[in-house]
Amino acid sequence: MALLRRWPGLLPELSVTAAPRVLCIVPYCRRTAKRLDAHHEWICGKHWSLVPRAYRRAYARAKRRFKVRQTLLLWKCSGMLWSRCKRAAIERAVGIS
Ligand SMILES: [Zn+2]
Repeated sequence: MALLRRWPGLLPELSVTAAPRVLCIVPYCRRTAKRLDAHHEWICGKHWSLVPRAYRRAYARAKRRFKVRQTLLLWKCSGMLWSRCKRAAIERAVGIS
């Protein structure tokens, strides 16, 4: 978006790729972490604890397996499990589920 490139401060929430810190993915949560890459997503400790333990463990297992054997299937699997964790964190935080 040319407009954002010209005025990076116009919409701060859309020009986050340059920001050195990344916000928790839960809306209105003000906690941040150090940005590791442009696509870095993060759930803060407080909201991570709201994710069901089974989801967290499944995601951790998929990540461990991906570290050992880097296949596309394991990559997609851990991505899907991460999405499930994100959805659960947001839904719990705003009181939907
Ligand atoms: Zn949070």
